[in-house]
Amino acid sequence: MIRIDTVTKRYPDGTVAVDRLSLDIPDRSITVLVGPSGCGKTTTLRMINRMVDPSEGSILLDGADIREQPVNALRRSMGYVIQNAGLFPHRTIVDNIATVPRLLGWGKQKSRERAAELMERVGLDTALARRYPYQLSGGQQQRVGVARALAADPPVLLMDEPFSAVDPVVRKGLQDELLRIQDELGKTIVFVTHDIDEAIKLGSMVAVLRTGGRLAQYAPPAELLTAPADPFVEDFLGADRGIRRLSFFGSRGLDLRTAPIVAADAGAERIAAAAADGAPYLLVTDGDGKPLGWAAREDLADGPADPARLLPHGRPFVYGEGSLRAALDCAVLSPTGWAVAVDDAGRAVGVVSQQAIGEAIRSAHAEDGGAAAPAAEAEAKVAG
Ligand code: ADP
Repeated sequence: MIRIDTVTKRYPDGTVAVDRLSLDIPDRSITVLVGPSGCGKTTTLRMINRMVDPSEGSILLDGADIREQPVNALRRSMGYVIQNAGLFPHRTIVDNIATVPRLLGWGKQKSRERAAELMERVGLDTALARRYPYQLSGGQQQRVGVARALAADPPVLLMDEPFSAVDPVVRKGLQDELLRIQDELGKTIVFVTHDIDEAIKLGSMVAVLRTGGRLAQYAPPAELLTAPADPFVEDFLGADRGIRRLSFFGSRGLDLRTAPIVAADAGAERIAAAAADGAPYLLVTDGDGKPLGWAAREDLADGPADPARLLPHGRPFVYGEGSLRAALDCAVLSPTGWAVAVDDAGRAVGVVSQQAIGEAIRSAHAEDGGAAAPAAEAEAKVAG
């Protein structure tokens, strides 16, 4: 664990960048520091690897003051990723990634093998290994930056606005990739961002800082959304807190109905049985069970539906993996008001009405007792 204990940083010109900050940063999870520009996030991150020294207070790594160990050893145990990746422009991608292993005295061959392995891990085609940074897109460069930080397998990763300079689509890809890598590697990650949505998506714990380097709130994201500590945090979180919080509830508890699902080549008897279930619309699927679209019950009275006349089924949610927010979004956007649940392979596993989703939301809130439950945290990273 990294313990930041009543740390203050006063720069020589008198600026108080961080003011009596205390935080316990748990192992093997992502802790996010978020807040407006100038609130002391970067200063805090840099104090953890001793690029900046605190004016007062101390920082402990597994109980030992970080000032007690040699600074080189400390930094080697902490990968560091910055905005725009900070790659060496005159080194190839593979040599950029192999930088730290080479410094540690690994042989050239072993370092390059390690670099190739990391390229795959961060989702980079190894065909890019011989290129130079300027020959890569911003998103690819950022992946190289992550690979380089992971090269010597440090237990801690410090990330300073690593995804801020790329467009939103690439950014989402990088965030998803980081969560996937973290699932596999279980690093202790301290992640700085000014983007609250990024903080909520990535963090197991989120520290909201206010200008002057003071801690406003330190909590799991679902708890921030439920119970912001004060008007500053509430304002910083922005609109739609209730809807966004639904991302922390899984869809597995939804009461799916399977009776209204019919194959496109279903016989009259099967269609009649589906219609008898009472749902106003039937979901028509192809031979693999993948959804084709909705048909009104009466349109199927005379036999199989004309695929050209089906209503669009919208974007389905993956049952179990998708959140209640994803399910609600499907239902709200669906022309029938019903959401379609699919399995990993995209086959329809059930349909659910807006009303049933509303009931699931109410019972999730009731079980949660109005605060973020640990069980909700475990499911915190469900898609959407
Ligand atoms: P953030 O990362 O949240 O944008 P910083 O930690 O970079 O915030 O900066 C916090 C405050 O400290 C800001 O007011 C900034 O201008 C000031 N600051 C940062 N670095 C220095 C420095 N080397 N000397 C003086 N003031 C600094």
